[in-house]
Amino acid sequence: MTPETELDSSLSSVPTLSPKESGAQPAGAGPVIVVGGGVTGLSAAWELQQRGVPYVLLEASDSLGGKVQTEFWDDFLVEQAADAFVLGKPWALELAREVGLEPELIHPREDTKRLYFLKGGQLLTFPEHLRMFVPTDAEAFRRSGVLSPEGTERMLAEEHVPPRENADEDESLASFIQRRFGEEAMNFIVPMAAGIYVANPYELSMQMAFPQFLEMEQRAGSLIAGHRALPPRTTPVFGSFRRGMGELPRAVGRALTGEVRLNAPVAQIHQDGVTLASGERLAGRGVIVAAPAWAAAPMLTGDFPQAAELTGQLKTNSSVAVMLAYREDQFQFDMNMHGLQVDWAEDIPMTAITVHSGKMAGRAPEGHVLLRVFFKNTDPDEALRLAQQYVQELLGAEGEPLFQTFADWRGKNPAYVVGHRDHLAAIRAALPQNVQVAGASFTGVGLPDCVHAGRSAARAVVEAAAGR
Ligand SMILES: Cc1cc2nc3c(=O)[nH]c(=O)nc-3n(C[C@H](O)[C@H](O)[C@H](O)COP(=O)(O)OP(=O)(O)OC[C@H]3O[C@@H](n4cnc5c(N)ncnc54)[C@H](O)[C@@H]3O)c2cc1C
Repeated sequence: MTPETELDSSLSSVPTLSPKESGAQPAGAGPVIVVGGGVTGLSAAWELQQRGVPYVLLEASDSLGGKVQTEFWDDFLVEQAADAFVLGKPWALELAREVGLEPELIHPREDTKRLYFLKGGQLLTFPEHLRMFVPTDAEAFRRSGVLSPEGTERMLAEEHVPPRENADEDESLASFIQRRFGEEAMNFIVPMAAGIYVANPYELSMQMAFPQFLEMEQRAGSLIAGHRALPPRTTPVFGSFRRGMGELPRAVGRALTGEVRLNAPVAQIHQDGVTLASGERLAGRGVIVAAPAWAAAPMLTGDFPQAAELTGQLKTNSSVAVMLAYREDQFQFDMNMHGLQVDWAEDIPMTAITVHSGKMAGRAPEGHVLLRVFFKNTDPDEALRLAQQYVQELLGAEGEPLFQTFADWRGKNPAYVVGHRDHLAAIRAALPQNVQVAGASFTGVGLPDCVHAGRSAARAVVEAAAGR
């Protein structure tokens, strides 16, 4: 997550089909086989355990958690991907509670909640009184100068734009923004909205990424009116854990009493089990495919060629995250802040900087600063070089970082192009009901959605295998 405001509460999911809706025959007995030990697969296994259903979780790598990985570099806590999850969708917090993690829950710091917006090489203070990216205080938005006077007035005129008539049709984020807020608003909204999905706004499906905006448009007539009518927020929007997001998969992994195998890549999926890359055949009453689409597609080729082809068509986007550590006295800037967003029209590959130590307590030792600098599709060596350069130019950092590292997410971010829901429905229709796909590539990228998708898939497979 970048240092954006509250947009992640919109990370969305599609419901997992009930087995009754999809149409094939149940398979036999044995454990349910869960392929992939990321948050989705772990949630599926946990749900099966709660129901007393035997399972085998197969993870290709040597650790659980998938993209959720927390590393410790001396006393710095470095997140490779997710650094928090939205609380508005209850599923991740519920899981954390069930595995005893609730006492470890922390929230972003309120006392450092300063954000900047990089436009034309200058850092502007982020507008106040935004809900998501929607301005609820016109004067505060005008003062911020994040758009030209004309662009500002057009954005504020959203309130008078009538709702779209063909409400059931999917559209791209760009189409939605241009239609409701005007062309120039793309520069301000895209970094927040598409930034979360690392997406091309001309491709990103509104139905998949921001269904609540489409719903609000129809219900309240406009997003400004709809957000203004919401009650003031009294509870935190995001949560994380004292020892980092990696606590969640670690705690679930510890709580699983069934069979969990690491270094066990699956090669092929069948209606009655899987074949591992080692050649071993494992029989099961159903399979939950909780691996990313690019890994899942080749596993489906043998028995489910149509599902394999459709899964292989799912697109991805690329990003690179660079993490840098400094002493606080290396900065001219006050680093007690959450970070900055980059104007979409700015001609640089960087999209945002999160001051992780400013945003969350316990991410860097006293007197030190930990940054996360996000890039579009960029060679990691170039990203490392540019990250230092931007931090120097924009935040006045002097000297070398204490350390720097990167996470390479090129080709690893689900793209959710317009029509994704229909595409997913077609994949599901091409699979028997006891073989379910779930997880970031298919059903929603946010961790709450991954938890929900994993648990829903587990229930669906159990019901399908029972012939219900
Ligand atoms: C940079 C970045 C920042 C993010 N920030 C946030 C955030 O702040 N908040 C938030 O909610 N979300 C965030 N996300 C999204 C979130 O982290 C992911 O969507 C989520 O972790 C995906 O979980 P998953 O289990 O579906 O997939 P993965 O985590 O990809 O897990 C899939 C697992 O399947 C395994 N696998 C692959 N092939 C095989 C095989 N053949 N056999 C067996 N196993 C296999 C993989 O090794 C992996 O462990 C972020 C993502 C990125 C990249």
